[in-house]
Amino acid sequence: MNFLNYNFTVTDRFVRYAKIDTQSDPTSPTCPSTEKQKNLGRLLIQELIEMGINDAEIDEHGYVYATLKSNTTKQVPTICFCSHIDTSPDCSGTNVNPVIHTKFDGKDIVLPKDRTQIIKFAEHPALAVQIGNDIVTADGTTLLGADNKAGLAEIMDAMHYLINHPEVKHGDIRILFTPDEEIGRGADKVDIKKLNAQFGYTMDGETLGHIENETFSADAVSIVINGFSTHPGFAKNKMQHAIKIAAQIINKIPIDKTPETTEKKQPFIHPTAINGGLEQVELKFIIRAFDTPTLFALEEELRQITIAVLSGYQKCSYEFNVTEQYRNMREVLDSYPHVVNYAIEAVKRTGVTPVLSSIRGGTDGSRLSFIGLPCPNIYAGEHAFHSKQEWVSVQDMQKAVETIVHLTNIWEENSEI
Ligand SMILES: [Zn+2]
Repeated sequence: MNFLNYNFTVTDRFVRYAKIDTQSDPTSPTCPSTEKQKNLGRLLIQELIEMGINDAEIDEHGYVYATLKSNTTKQVPTICFCSHIDTSPDCSGTNVNPVIHTKFDGKDIVLPKDRTQIIKFAEHPALAVQIGNDIVTADGTTLLGADNKAGLAEIMDAMHYLINHPEVKHGDIRILFTPDEEIGRGADKVDIKKLNAQFGYTMDGETLGHIENETFSADAVSIVINGFSTHPGFAKNKMQHAIKIAAQIINKIPIDKTPETTEKKQPFIHPTAINGGLEQVELKFIIRAFDTPTLFALEEELRQITIAVLSGYQKCSYEFNVTEQYRNMREVLDSYPHVVNYAIEAVKRTGVTPVLSSIRGGTDGSRLSFIGLPCPNIYAGEHAFHSKQEWVSVQDMQKAVETIVHLTNIWEENSEI
């Protein structure tokens, strides 16, 4: 496969998509959480149809589905490429103005509309391999939205390449663009039957060449403490204070099992909210571990801390509730090793060294993997996301396009006649 003479469309597409405000909103109960996400969804539909992908559609929840039809006589599993339309609520996405800094020379990048926003070479180690490349940033007043519009643009350009290069054989390819990933709801309303794909890839990773096949396993825990209240003037030996009981529980969380003291594959217990008063307090936690038995062990540890603290307060009671959030995708992917292996091979064929890594977080793919679509994550090139200093390089996006094209072809190569 030869990309030397190919006029990549990925950068133009990316700039076009980045300008459309698609910020999601965790306080909104609707799906999509913000109606404006559909503006980009509709543009994507229009561009897909212009390319000749006529079944492209957006549903009422803002999910985009489309199919690039097979061009081979082989029986190839249907694979899906997935990216998310929304941008993070943590940083403004209104009037994004992408700036292309051509031939990056290794100097700090000063963002033009707010010159206090400086992407410092020393603070962004990933820039070290970008010398000579073209770096896209926002203008200093907003995020860029390369997370995940780089992924959208890469999938779109890969489809464009395949349509214009019918000699590259592939099976049916399903495209899925989701809303509300940044607020944890990206997989909520995916119609997995309608999607009708066997395996998937999210294009939402960070560094060139990286493939992520592991995420955290994640639960939420709520502990409600019912205290015993009296008038404070007459409280001696009577009052049992829910806030003080809650503080004791927090203080007993092992210091080496917190986000502040862990990295890589280490698990943690993390309090996220405390609400209430003397009579009742609710403590909210998130629990994270790479393997689910460890996750359960941490939950049990927190339960035993609660029991031990409460045992000193005979008039008090507690409720301890666990809510499942998502599971390490590797628990599913290990049964289908070829899904990741083909991605590794695709990265290699672009001349890039593949790196298999894990995410201290979740992706749409971690949810999709457990509802029938084993779905590792491939790099999209996005860096310093959710911030005004977000950046992506043109050359990395082009390599991601090549990776998708190779990957579709590798699935065909490995299929039966
Ligand atoms: Zn993302």
